[in-house]
Amino acid sequence: MSPPSHIAPRGQQIVILGATGSIGASTLEVIARHPDRYAVFALTAHRNVERLAQLCLRHAPRYAVLADEAAAKQLREKLQATQCPTEVLGGTRALCEVAAASEADAVMAAIVGAAGLAPTLAAVRTGKKVLLANKEALVMSGHIFMDAVAASGACLLPIDSEHNAIFQSLPASYRRDPDAAGVRRILLTGSGGPFRNASSERLAAATPDEACAHPVWSMGRKISVDSATLMNKGLEVIEAHWLFGVPANRIEVLIHPQSIVHSMVDYVDGSVVAQLGNPDMRVPIAHALAWPERIESGVSAPEFFSLAALSFERPALERFPCLGLAYQALEAGGAAPAVLNAANEEAVRAFLERRIGFCHIAEIITATLECSGKLDANVLAAVLHADARAREIAREEILKRSVP
Ligand code: NAD
Ligand code: MG
Repeated sequence: MSPPSHIAPRGQQIVILGATGSIGASTLEVIARHPDRYAVFALTAHRNVERLAQLCLRHAPRYAVLADEAAAKQLREKLQATQCPTEVLGGTRALCEVAAASEADAVMAAIVGAAGLAPTLAAVRTGKKVLLANKEALVMSGHIFMDAVAASGACLLPIDSEHNAIFQSLPASYRRDPDAAGVRRILLTGSGGPFRNASSERLAAATPDEACAHPVWSMGRKISVDSATLMNKGLEVIEAHWLFGVPANRIEVLIHPQSIVHSMVDYVDGSVVAQLGNPDMRVPIAHALAWPERIESGVSAPEFFSLAALSFERPALERFPCLGLAYQALEAGGAAPAVLNAANEEAVRAFLERRIGFCHIAEIITATLECSGKLDANVLAAVLHADARAREIAREEILKRSVP
């Protein structure tokens, strides 16, 4: 017997944490191309009522969650006036509940920043498929996060284009037996951001809008600023360390302005395996959603005859100290990556609000790392303590540099 027409056939039930953001939008685009395979189980956001209401009307999820309780109340009232069947929940606990719901098959973790840690971990602990875009969660709590993946048997698939490329360039047996794979180095590529060729004077005067005008990728404002400072690449070095178990000294960053080669694996026999594609997040999203199968993402392959060149440069560490700071934090271990991340989040927010200049971001992170001393990160409470302490220090450092 076929189901009544108002009941959608059951595809894989997907939770999108951070549905109103850039990754959220790309995920919904890919899902919408495959209504036979995927259904939206829950959509979450911070407090954008209008956008989440539109998405609910379009995708009719079982649940919609706004982290902000007052915004959730508004969304509930708005949807009550429509035929939309979505149940609206509010608060961070509800974010974790939908992320861990037994009816959900996969969770796209695409909240920006430390706010994504609790719901992403909640999803990981249930052992389901987790598509990881929220790199900050892994950077903050690498050990705890990867231990939780191992304990629950969660299927963790990287969405960050570089890590997705590395995942695709490694043998399927890599997780089981990394030593046998013969990996010499991970070659992490990055576009270099909007200020790749900018002088130090130009960097000092950079505005938020200039920093967010990325030459290749269209992304949320926080990650756009991270790309401009190269902190994004630094966070990605730490992310690669945890995802693939490779030490910092075997992860090398290559600036590749065309963003066609999304990263490479250099093997002991001299082979280098890369994944190529147009710079569009729908590619890694489709890859991870369907893995180990492949589905259409809506993105075509690069037009090779129109590409003038594929070039690679060393990163300019003197002009972009954030990349070096991330390597230092990874080497220092303990809570240093959580401190780095927290200081960066605070500094980027202050820069976006025009309270500090672009070059102050690296200064504030340096000062916060120095003042924080050695902190542990072996339990979640310790990570959250380090995060909170680092934010206090960073805010003081921001005040010292604030434009009157
Ligand atoms: P975005 O700013 O466009 O969207 C962020 C989403 O997180 C929004 O839905 C927002 O409502 C939600 N959010 C923000 N603060 C929250 C809070 N306190 N509680 C609950 N939800 C909150 O960001 P984005 O560009 O989509 O990036 C999302 C994540 O994916 C980031 O961690 C980023 O580093 C990573 N990532 C993004 C890209 C990209 O191309 N955009 C590429 C690789 C990795
Ligand atoms: Mg990336």
